[in-house]
Amino acid sequence: MLKVLKPILDIQEKIDMHMIQLMRLKTERRRDLANLEAVKTKLSGEIELKTSEINDLQKNINLMEEDLRVLKEKLKKLEAQQPLIKKVEEFNALSHEMSQADRERSLKEQHLSTRYDQLAALSDLLKECKGNLQRTTESSRALEQEIQESIDRINVEGRELLARRAELVAHADQDVFKIYEKLLHSKKDRVIVPIENRCCSGCHISLTAQDENLVRKGERLVFCEHCSRIHYWPEIEVVEDTAATVKPRRRRAAAKG
Ligand SMILES: [Zn+2]
Repeated sequence: MLKVLKPILDIQEKIDMHMIQLMRLKTERRRDLANLEAVKTKLSGEIELKTSEINDLQKNINLMEEDLRVLKEKLKKLEAQQPLIKKVEEFNALSHEMSQADRERSLKEQHLSTRYDQLAALSDLLKECKGNLQRTTESSRALEQEIQESIDRINVEGRELLARRAELVAHADQDVFKIYEKLLHSKKDRVIVPIENRCCSGCHISLTAQDENLVRKGERLVFCEHCSRIHYWPEIEVVEDTAATVKPRRRRAAAKG
């Protein structure tokens, strides 16, 4: 492997992949918190809406009650006039006016009764919403705390990783590191990748034998033509007592040589 790649590969594997995972987890946890908050916000919105509907309805009822009161007074006055009337036509006219006013009263009372029913139904709904909000708030409190604690732990771990990263970066080739970091920011994924079966293990597109040779020689940086990742030749770690991992390599080498 190209010598300058090794320390940066270490940064990628030991720090940055872990960091990317942590950040994903943190985003998920924050989304969980936001979802819990959204449920409560929705319930609060319903409570606000119901309260405002109840206020409007109550104002309407007040007006209707005042209307009815005036009408009842009018009826009382008409009733009081009745015994004083002598002429038949006047009496008939008054009776007509009274029965009209009475019909009107009955109609207004019916309307009011409907409004009272609506008010009672709305008040029940409001009570239900408030109960819901209270239960939701209570039941999500422990969960929210748990999520917040997990975010705090992620932050602590993130800070530790950053400190270790700074140490490793200090020992890396700065020019190559700059390239690496730029790629990392755009991909949010591994950007120094091995060649596997003559494919880029980042984008899985096949490479030419020429590309493969360049990477195998390890004399300069080789980028994937398709995904711009940096390629390296995977070096199989030879462990003394596992002959199986060594033999096939030797056989391949012998066949090629
Ligand atoms: Zn690629």
